[in-house]
Amino acid sequence: MAQEVTILGAGVAGLAVARALARQGWQVLVLEQADAIREVGAGLQIGPNGAAVIDALGLGDAMRAASVRAQAVALKDGLSGANVLRMDMAAHYPALGWHFLHRADLIDILANGAREAGVQIRLLHKIDQVDLSGPRPRIVTAQGAEFLPGTLIGADGLHSPTRAALNGAAAPFFTGQVAWRAVVPEMPGADAVAEVHMGPGRHLVSYPLRGGRWRNIVAVEERKAWVQESWSLRDDAMELRLAFQGFAPRVQGWLEQAQDVWLWGLFRHPIAPVWQRVMPEGAVAILGDAAHPTLPFLAQGASMALEDAWSLAQALGQGQQTLPAWQAARAPRCARIVQAANRNARAYHLSGLPRFVGHTALRIGNAVAPDLALKRFDWLYGFDVTKARTGA
Ligand SMILES: Cc1cc2nc3c(=O)[nH]c(=O)nc-3n(C[C@H](O)[C@H](O)[C@H](O)COP(=O)(O)OP(=O)(O)OC[C@H]3O[C@@H](n4cnc5c(N)ncnc54)[C@H](O)[C@@H]3O)c2cc1C
Repeated sequence: MAQEVTILGAGVAGLAVARALARQGWQVLVLEQADAIREVGAGLQIGPNGAAVIDALGLGDAMRAASVRAQAVALKDGLSGANVLRMDMAAHYPALGWHFLHRADLIDILANGAREAGVQIRLLHKIDQVDLSGPRPRIVTAQGAEFLPGTLIGADGLHSPTRAALNGAAAPFFTGQVAWRAVVPEMPGADAVAEVHMGPGRHLVSYPLRGGRWRNIVAVEERKAWVQESWSLRDDAMELRLAFQGFAPRVQGWLEQAQDVWLWGLFRHPIAPVWQRVMPEGAVAILGDAAHPTLPFLAQGASMALEDAWSLAQALGQGQQTLPAWQAARAPRCARIVQAANRNARAYHLSGLPRFVGHTALRIGNAVAPDLALKRFDWLYGFDVTKARTGA
């Protein structure tokens, strides 16, 4: 009889692990709280380490058809618009590539891939209770339906009830940063470059999406006041324009076109100490944002979730008793990525003399050894979890 697994959450992690397990012959049920697999408009960057998983899931052609393949990531002085550092992603990662994708397109590709592999996805199933006190996991929906899966996977995101059942409540704290995101029209033929415009106390990241017809914008500002941690809080586009009014005309031109603008508060969540438990008659594991939420400053949230999904499916294929080893292999890598993302925020927002010195050092370094900046990140982007013997 096929082994059965219930996965909470039809996000990046949940759908990827669902397809991976279904292709191994598992009977897979995904429970998602939303009434449709629909995503708010926002871009995602998928690095080579995430693209390796999408390829291994057999969805690489679909991803390449939907994405803009990046040439480079360029750091710029936000105020003057001058180049500071350029990392040539296309030359450094010629095989797997670096991709700009609309989140809705990635979710569509993964959801179609999951269904095609036989995964059953049930919408409008919000899990209210995750109970790990018995011999196997027990979950209860908001409508009162009960499930007793042999294997439970919590891919239930930032506010994961599965994480809470394994670890108790966590205390996230406001980082003193808010982020706006918007999608604006773009002229086809725009350079396939992720531009990071850095200014004192703020920065703005932008890249083309969907055949270059659109441009994704994420703009971060340091602030004392607390803002809700939600992806669906609207803001006045004028607030965004005001925050970046000292920036170069190229940036201001994009912001002039912004109409639908969303604002969210950036919170730091501790990495969950416990990601799994082997129980007398079952097992439970968490992955993706449920296990290790990250700030967006390294564009690794989705790629890490994909790596987790692949490695978790491989571990479960060997039996539930491998789960502690899976966590032991994955956790140090994820912690290193989360810490590197935290550091980036500080480096982008320098002001005064440290800013001048930092930018000058980057410029000189880039002129002398153009590949050096990327080589420092080979441990991250150059890692292929689908070829690794363990998850890291
Ligand atoms: C709306 C949204 C927009 C984002 N945009 C960006 C972006 O532009 N750039 C970027 O780098 N990162 C973005 N992220 C973060 C990035 O997508 C995540 O780091 C990455 O996708 C991790 O995916 P995940 O599957 O762990 O979590 P998620 O993608 O958050 O998926 C979790 C899923 O679980 C479901 N769920 C949660 N609780 C329950 C419950 N109790 N019962 C049933 N289902 C439940 C949610 O509805 C959701 O579908 C975004 C996340 C969200 C939610």
